[in-house]
Amino acid sequence: MDFLKMKLEKLPRIGMKYGAILKKLNIETVEDFLLHFPFRYEDYSERILIENLAAGETATVMGEVVQSKLVRTWKKKMMITECFVSDETGTVRAVWFNQPYVSDSLTAGKGVRLAGKVSQDTKGMFFSNPAWELSSRTPTNTGRLVPIYPETEGLTSKWIRWQMQNMIKYADALIDPIPENILKGLHLPILSEAVKSLHFPKTLKEFELAQKRFAFQQMFLVQLATQRVKISWDKQNAVSIAFNETLTKYFVESLPFTLTDAQRKAAFQILKDLEKPLPMNRLLNGDVGSGKTIVAAMACLSAINAGFQVSIMAPTEVLAKQHYLTLCGLFKNSEIKIALFTNSYREINNFQFPISNFQINPNVENPKLKNTKKIRDSRDDFLEKLKSGEINLVIGTHALIQKDIHPVKSPTNGRGAKQFNRVKFKNLALIIIDEQHRFGVAQRAFLQQQIADINDGLPGKIPHLLTMTATPIPRTLTLAFFGNLDISVLDEMPKNRKPIVTEIILPSKRKDIYDFVRSEISKGHQAFIIFPLVEESEKLTELKAATQEHERLSREIFPDLKLGLLHGKLKASEKEQVMADFKDKKYNILVATSVVEVGIDIPNATVIVIEDAERFGLSQLHQFRGRVGRSDKQSYCFLFTGSKTVKAKSRLGAMEKTSSGFAIAEEDLKLRGPGEFLGTRQSGLPDIAMEHLSNVKLIEIAHDYAEQTLQNSPDLADYPLLQKELGKFQSNVHLE
Ligand code: ADP
Ligand code: MG
Repeated sequence: MDFLKMKLEKLPRIGMKYGAILKKLNIETVEDFLLHFPFRYEDYSERILIENLAAGETATVMGEVVQSKLVRTWKKKMMITECFVSDETGTVRAVWFNQPYVSDSLTAGKGVRLAGKVSQDTKGMFFSNPAWELSSRTPTNTGRLVPIYPETEGLTSKWIRWQMQNMIKYADALIDPIPENILKGLHLPILSEAVKSLHFPKTLKEFELAQKRFAFQQMFLVQLATQRVKISWDKQNAVSIAFNETLTKYFVESLPFTLTDAQRKAAFQILKDLEKPLPMNRLLNGDVGSGKTIVAAMACLSAINAGFQVSIMAPTEVLAKQHYLTLCGLFKNSEIKIALFTNSYREINNFQFPISNFQINPNVENPKLKNTKKIRDSRDDFLEKLKSGEINLVIGTHALIQKDIHPVKSPTNGRGAKQFNRVKFKNLALIIIDEQHRFGVAQRAFLQQQIADINDGLPGKIPHLLTMTATPIPRTLTLAFFGNLDISVLDEMPKNRKPIVTEIILPSKRKDIYDFVRSEISKGHQAFIIFPLVEESEKLTELKAATQEHERLSREIFPDLKLGLLHGKLKASEKEQVMADFKDKKYNILVATSVVEVGIDIPNATVIVIEDAERFGLSQLHQFRGRVGRSDKQSYCFLFTGSKTVKAKSRLGAMEKTSSGFAIAEEDLKLRGPGEFLGTRQSGLPDIAMEHLSNVKLIEIAHDYAEQTLQNSPDLADYPLLQKELGKFQSNVHLE
């Protein structure tokens, strides 16, 4: 019988009740249970003599119970077990609250191990609620590195430990998905050994090796996944888009500014990629405000001029609309037909000028779109125009390329929404995805797959892909997550930018800053006030908190000014309205939660105040800061904090010191670790592997082994276990 596949609820020791709780954690079989790892350890490995105990330290002592009694305190209605334990050097007291059964087990004369933090009161040293175990038993909870498991309601770490102690022997049956020679070459333990070491490490070294092994496994899987995508991507064909130097020059010269060298270089790399008959897969990694849109526009222009369609996708409808307006402005004097296509908005411009007369009016800052005829076509008409090629450039959200999103009329009854179809294009040659915050390897693979089967009008060809991210990515992580991409970096800001003055503000200075905000507003400028609601669980109360904050500021601080409110509970169209009103200067101040983070462009805003700044990651703060300083006016960023801890201050200090997003990202990575930096959920890697992400060497090794493995067996047919593990890994990541 395959014990590993046994259902836990069938085991008498576990049963239905615990089985059900475990199931909620996705732990159903013995194998699942064995692969449920501790998230940290208490080091109770060293036995201390009682005479050497020191208050405030963690220790394990071993001795004999000399006296034990159960005391009931009537006042507090508590049961206190008090027990005295002696070794050859002295006696120490231990107390447990409301655990009367402890006194049943710890009777005088019994040998016992106690582990926990040592405290001191007037009566001397004592342990409060220590972990304990009879000396006759195998050290599980004391006297060793004790594993601490994530607890859920009804399931203590101690219970899991106890069950694990009984089940760990089955670990020997686990078969390793990683080829043995690879692990041998790296001097890493095989799966069964590593599992045992993670649950019950004998030494720190043993535990570290086990951890490293799992980190390697994750990196190896990531590398296999990305390299496989790359291999299949590279096998595809794409249309070759000729680089029209005259047109490109013309466009660049008609801009009201000169491109930065970084923009020039990135655009050149992209335009060169587009010339190849192979699909581009490039990431444009640029700091906030580094001018990614212009670079993307140059790529659009090139593809459209060659007669192809282009699609730009943004993460939100608001951003899609902003891109639409920007591009309408940039391509204002051309005959490019641009469409905005999201659930809430549909619009097609109708520019009248032929592309040969292409010209850009340098004085247009906020395009008013006078030539735009708004068309609120039905969805079907719209889809038809994309299919016929009438629309050259379509801007929308990810829904544009997703399967099964757009209902079409059923041919039989003419109106059923049951039948779904995806958007069809005539000849889509380039896809641009903006603000790609999601690092998930599997999502990217999925996305690329979707892109690969998208093209209707260009048989045998897939679109070129350009992704843009405003989160500067440290080099190490680039290697780990984007090993299969070509990368262009915009690490240079446009010359007209003044660095944003950034200051940490303690509560005593709050009022001064409010006065300062007021003075900026009297100059006709605008301000953002951001406050944090970052936790998932806080979403429910977001509406309430946002409303309260908005009210407080409107009533107490700025009663004479107009304050807008933006939060995640608003509908997309409402958010759009608030942003549009703010842009139109209907508000002096926009009070917002973190929804304001991505890409929104309000050049007239010169101040951003961030409440409880220590609650945000540095990279996120940098994103917020990027909301101002988007013009030639001097801008300011104030980081409010009540936190006096050195750590919070030195972290925020990095914001004062540098304006480079890349430097901040490196700092953030160093301070918070890769897990926090990327967000484990987003990366799809467990914490344990994240710890090692800064280990470039290990990533490089994983990369090389993956390459070798795929050379031997491109479809992994020779490695069925590895194939299965990869499938599991990808579907897990995909579930996010
Ligand atoms: P991001 O990289 O954050 O997406 P945008 O593309 O939105 O940045 O550009 C931010 C602003 O900077 C826009 O108003 C854009 O017109 C302007 N801009 C872009 N490139 C330059 C440049 N080389 N010189 C001056 N301003 C520029
Ligand atoms: Mg942008």
